[in-house]
Amino acid sequence: MKIGLPLAVFSSAALLGTAWSRAEQASPGAADSPSPTATPVVFSPQTLADLRRLQQAAINSDYAYRQVAHLANNIGPRLSGSTQAAKAVEYVAAELKGLGCEVQLEKAMVPHWVRGEEIAALTQFPGMAENTTQKIVLCALGGSVPTPAVGLTAEVIPIENFDDLKSLPREKVAGKIVLFNYHFDKEMAAEGHGGEAYGEAVVYRGSGPSAAAKKGAIACLIRSVGGSDYRLPHTGATNYSGDAPKIPAAAVTAEDANLIVDLARQGPVKMKLVLTPQTLPEIESANVIADVKGTEHPEQVVIVSGHLDSWDLGTGAIDDGAGVAVSMATASLIRQLHLKPKRTIRIIAWMNEENGSAGSKTYAKEHAKDWPNHFAAMEIDLGADHPVGLNIHAKPEVKTMLAPVAAVLQESGAGILRLVEHCGADIESMEKIGVPAFSPIQDNRFYFNYHHSAADTLDKIVPKQLAENAAVVAVSAYALANAEQPLPR
Ligand SMILES: [Zn+2]
Repeated sequence: MKIGLPLAVFSSAALLGTAWSRAEQASPGAADSPSPTATPVVFSPQTLADLRRLQQAAINSDYAYRQVAHLANNIGPRLSGSTQAAKAVEYVAAELKGLGCEVQLEKAMVPHWVRGEEIAALTQFPGMAENTTQKIVLCALGGSVPTPAVGLTAEVIPIENFDDLKSLPREKVAGKIVLFNYHFDKEMAAEGHGGEAYGEAVVYRGSGPSAAAKKGAIACLIRSVGGSDYRLPHTGATNYSGDAPKIPAAAVTAEDANLIVDLARQGPVKMKLVLTPQTLPEIESANVIADVKGTEHPEQVVIVSGHLDSWDLGTGAIDDGAGVAVSMATASLIRQLHLKPKRTIRIIAWMNEENGSAGSKTYAKEHAKDWPNHFAAMEIDLGADHPVGLNIHAKPEVKTMLAPVAAVLQESGAGILRLVEHCGADIESMEKIGVPAFSPIQDNRFYFNYHHSAADTLDKIVPKQLAENAAVVAVSAYALANAEQPLPR
């Protein structure tokens, strides 16, 4: 699955949003003269004019920034089941109601996991000064079971990957703490393939603990999945498999992983680990669903969405307060310009994307009968950096049909249309049954330096770039809602 982008896409011209040559514009059919085989009109002149107005209004609006600022700063971290997540549901619903949307809360039962203490230190290692320890910075993985309250102490066995684990005899692992020291590929991320680098490494967070437990490990550590410096651990959900004991699981910072590996090369290394998370009973929460009703086909919906829940270490500004704010901005801009979409534009703030996807699973269950009326679905969940275009998960013809929209998007430096295999976790059930899916192509070179860490805070968002994302999303959503032709499935 390619989420990343070739470096060329992030050439300085593209990043600055300045014009680049037609040849580089990957949107066949974007030529000014009509093609010899007369194709039916997809977007009326009126719609195209409205798209340009929407784009200008979005670029000049600070609405999305004010919304993400409120979510991140006033409400704060929004882990599923938390008081802040509940407050965020209330807040977003009220804001969208205030814009005149038809708002409903779609109830979903979500996990309620609460982080506790997380303390670790090396208590034995080669060359140590007497009666000292080396502090290890880590965080529990979402869903982790606790250690005994007094902690556990065991030798740490650093390995790189699953093959290394396979090659170790059981007695080398049993009773030990396994450390998966799989490196997040920072160079790959720097070349614009942040998503791909993440995908390669995140499997250790998901499956590492159970794999280690199957060989008798009593706890599992992973090297943080991300590019962050400054000794910040990166949290995220782990997935215990049903056929392995649940063992405590944590992510150590890249720096601490390096430290452990270096010392373990010289001799045995023991760690004391204390993790006291709690898994409380599931709790009721909700997706916020807000409709800007269509005038001609109100039953047909174009979804514009981000997820409202976040991890608990930072304040969920880039993941995914930004996505929710940009989605809300679409409704705000349409109201501001008194536009009337032909189809319903449905803003959704999903609950529980991070650790269970209960919100999107509930939506899929409740609306499956209505999939034929789901005209298109969009999700924004890769931060807030400069967008260069639109990802499309649909028949290739859709890309051709959207060429006139790409020409408008190009005005803000986002004219690339790209066919991809996947556009977003919360809209996956729709993707699978053939609903055309979309997401902005965002510069993700820096996203994974902050993602899921304590540094996911508002200052990482450049207001102008967030506004550019709002422009791409509002333009695309309104274009889809007003397309004169159905999209092939
Ligand atoms: Zn996210």
